[in-house]
Amino acid sequence: MYQVSCTSSIYNFSKNNKPVLNIKSGDEVIIETMDCFSNQINTVEDRLETMDWDRVNPASGPIFIEGAEPCDILKVTIKEIQLKSKVVLSTGENLGVLGGKLKGLSSSIKTIENNEVIFDEKLRLPLNKMIGVIGTAPSIGEINCGTPGGHGGNMDNTMITEGSILYLPVFTEGALFALGDLHAVMGDGEIGVSGAEAAGKVHVKLEVIKNLKIQNPVLENGESISTIASAETLDAAVNKAVADMADILSERIDLTYNEIVMLLSLVGQAQICQVVDPLKTARYVVPKWVLEKYQFKLI
Ligand code: CA
Ligand code: ZN
Repeated sequence: MYQVSCTSSIYNFSKNNKPVLNIKSGDEVIIETMDCFSNQINTVEDRLETMDWDRVNPASGPIFIEGAEPCDILKVTIKEIQLKSKVVLSTGENLGVLGGKLKGLSSSIKTIENNEVIFDEKLRLPLNKMIGVIGTAPSIGEINCGTPGGHGGNMDNTMITEGSILYLPVFTEGALFALGDLHAVMGDGEIGVSGAEAAGKVHVKLEVIKNLKIQNPVLENGESISTIASAETLDAAVNKAVADMADILSERIDLTYNEIVMLLSLVGQAQICQVVDPLKTARYVVPKWVLEKYQFKLI
């Protein structure tokens, strides 16, 4: 089994980053990650005010997958997510949806026990372990790990969790895959600007797929297929995710485009991933049982 250490981290997705590991399509890797603050908040004395903000949102990697070329797809099967027992919550002035009403910055350290985050003496929250930042390198320039896009990145999608499969467009040779920003639990929207931020390890299988044409990430789990899109506004992100789904279906099922739109209007769920990052992210979720009636196959 290949391993990537959390000390091999990047703060932007770029084709100029040197790979820390070269693997073949189909190989499995255990990727160790720091939390989104690069593990800088460990005690009540550690303040967000004095933290090094250049070290926010590290992603471990990048991993070069042999044979991955631009226009291919990287299929990422998320086999297991293991979290350290400490999580950090944060919010503050000018951060998140209510940042205009907040004074100063706040952080809080919580513990995970028996698969629950102990919020306080009254409340324990069941884990929904998820990956906030996961992506490939763009074709040109660099994209900060805090920003989502067609390459993936900081999508903060609560459905990117154990047992799901993420299909990411490849824009550069080797794909240069990286991930980080694990959350023990997060609500859709991530309105306060953080989830329950955790360090941990993710076990993934990485495969190069040649016959899927997508411009933005697509997620599959046992129940559904979803398209994921990011844009300056949530409206634009929803429109893009819906259009991607309609395109995927029209190439694969025997209904006219108009019929597909009528069907999607009945069974598709437009949902929010996050509204607090530089671009907003939406997903459009369609149940597999509906698509199976039309012998739908993604790949
Ligand atoms: Ca995030
Ligand atoms: Zn996070």
